[in-house]
Amino acid sequence: MPSIGLQIDEVFNLLDCGEGTQKQIMKSKLSFMRIRNVFITHFHGDHFLGLLGLVQSMSFNGREEPLDIYGPAGGAIGILSNALNVGYYTLGFQVRIHELRAGEAYDLGKFVVRTHRNDHPVPALAYSFEEKDMVRIDREKAEKLRIPSRLLERLREQGSIEYGGARSTQSRT
Ligand SMILES: [Zn+2]
Repeated sequence: MPSIGLQIDEVFNLLDCGEGTQKQIMKSKLSFMRIRNVFITHFHGDHFLGLLGLVQSMSFNGREEPLDIYGPAGGAIGILSNALNVGYYTLGFQVRIHELRAGEAYDLGKFVVRTHRNDHPVPALAYSFEEKDMVRIDREKAEKLRIPSRLLERLREQGSIEYGGARSTQSRT
């Protein structure tokens, strides 16, 4: 059932979590313990029923870091609070449920998540992920100019540097 893993730098995000997601993650090189955020498009069973098992497995494996789950307003808190209370287990970490509306932007550090209207018979959202501006360095050119690596780090952080009397030019992507 639907689920997409999206890793942005060290942040592992999951989009939807249908049944079988946990098994598919175990087949991959990713660790389900590292999932930081889960974004649910809507609460039809095929898009979120895998979440119950996943959260309980995280708890069973000693997770302590909070997990943020995002979903469309008008369902996320009510449905997820019930779903995560199924069976006997002790939730050993904080699950933070966020209800989102279309047309909003959420800053999650290195990226921004935007929500969009999704045409479906139940409250539903589409998500887009935008990486913030990143400085890309032309390695070949940097080597040709013999720019020391500590300065390249500064270039990455600050966006420009001065070296040998010249100012770096750069393009942001
Ligand atoms: Zn649906």
